[in-house]
Amino acid sequence: MHQLTLAEIARGLADKKFSSEELTKVLLARIAQLDPQLNSFISLTEDLALAQAKAADARRANGENGALLGAPIAHKDLFCTQGIRTSCGSKMLDNFKAPYDATVVAKLAAAGAVTLGKTNMDEFAMGSANESSYYGPVKNPWNLEHVPGGSSGGSAAAVAARLLPAATGTDTGGSIRQPAALTNLTGLKPTYGRVSRWGMIAYASSLDQGGPLARTAEDCAILLQGMAGFDPQDSTSIDEPVPDYSASLNGSLQGLRIGVPKEYFSAGLDPRIADLIHNSVKELEKLGAVVKEISLPNMQHAIPAYYVIAPAEASSNLSRFDGVRFGYRCEDPKNLIDLYKRSRGEGFGPEVQRRIMVGAYALSAGYYDAYYLKAQKIRRLIKNDFMAAFNEVDIILGPTTPNPAWKLGAKNSDPVAAYLEDVYTITANLAGLPGLSMPAGFVDGLPVGVQLLAPYFQEGRLLNVAHQYQQNTDWHTRTPTGF
Ligand code: GLN
Repeated sequence: MHQLTLAEIARGLADKKFSSEELTKVLLARIAQLDPQLNSFISLTEDLALAQAKAADARRANGENGALLGAPIAHKDLFCTQGIRTSCGSKMLDNFKAPYDATVVAKLAAAGAVTLGKTNMDEFAMGSANESSYYGPVKNPWNLEHVPGGSSGGSAAAVAARLLPAATGTDTGGSIRQPAALTNLTGLKPTYGRVSRWGMIAYASSLDQGGPLARTAEDCAILLQGMAGFDPQDSTSIDEPVPDYSASLNGSLQGLRIGVPKEYFSAGLDPRIADLIHNSVKELEKLGAVVKEISLPNMQHAIPAYYVIAPAEASSNLSRFDGVRFGYRCEDPKNLIDLYKRSRGEGFGPEVQRRIMVGAYALSAGYYDAYYLKAQKIRRLIKNDFMAAFNEVDIILGPTTPNPAWKLGAKNSDPVAAYLEDVYTITANLAGLPGLSMPAGFVDGLPVGVQLLAPYFQEGRLLNVAHQYQQNTDWHTRTPTGF
């Protein structure tokens, strides 16, 4: 039963082959048995899950239907869940029980999804390896000595290991697409403003976006349907109707114009990944797509711009964790300044402290123009590059990451080496565009992802291209040994 996708679960529940309660019990037992190897969960919510499963079964017995009604999922532990610990992977929030549900959590619960638990993540979503979590690193089910990617590494490892069919993630600079690539999943970062950020603990507010992680594009369509939509509580949420994503999966790729940026194939890319990307292009050509070389000339400035903007916003967002209002408070403070200093010094881990310092520096008087303002100008140039490219092509294709999953600890002493792994993903966040990563093959037994980018609000196009590709390839069906 654990091999079923969301789409198959919906059919099985509708045909009364099994109940949501039965399925939930099977998956909870599987998590108890296998997760100790992976560490993909921070909290399990067994009681809530069983109550939600029973309620979903009752709704189905009353004639209700729905793709998510009774479907087991999990939430990245930065989505607020009422009365349940919402840690953001940090000691700072280890004792924090959210007083309300994030909009995404509430919407999925209303659709009848069953929450099995809260997944492990890099502390405050800062990282690409899931090693900065206060709750310990997550292991990649494809090779337990390797990282699963981050920051949504717990969601990715759990879904890849068939502990559950799908989970939520968030993507500020690649944190859905990169772990999807490194664990052989399909992951979608929607257009900025498509999914509400209300109740999603902020890292960099102008870049953060929630989205689905699943094994197939078909399942990403189902989960995104439950997450997307206007929310008056989020002033950056966009009041556009949500299309039927599952209905968009039947489009022909005949004549689809795919742009492949020449800048993507630089020295930093593992040549074996480059070969797999070229294979995926050939596959799409067989389905009728036409390929064209394009240029994104400002791409080389993306990492420096992102690593100014994201820490700058983070330094501001994280100032609310001061030991006074909520979260961790140090023991026996001598005075107010000591309380602030020690609460933040003891509550935040080293990577979060590094980002706060970089961000505060970039925003300080005298440096604001030199760093922050300049980074914002680069951001505009990157967006303009995309706008020009999308005049010529319907979709942009390339690698999701320059390398497969690295060994645990391999980049710990060199944070910049980890930042460089984000080279292909962060441009979509800087421009606010939707992006998807899907399985494209293996290097040394480790999964490789191909990334697709589309114009604003063309999530349906991304999902359709990925679905057509997955109808004609079987990379996404491969299961890690032992799971
Ligand atoms: N790796 C990037 C960072 O550390 C992206 C993280 C994310 O998307 N949340 O900032």
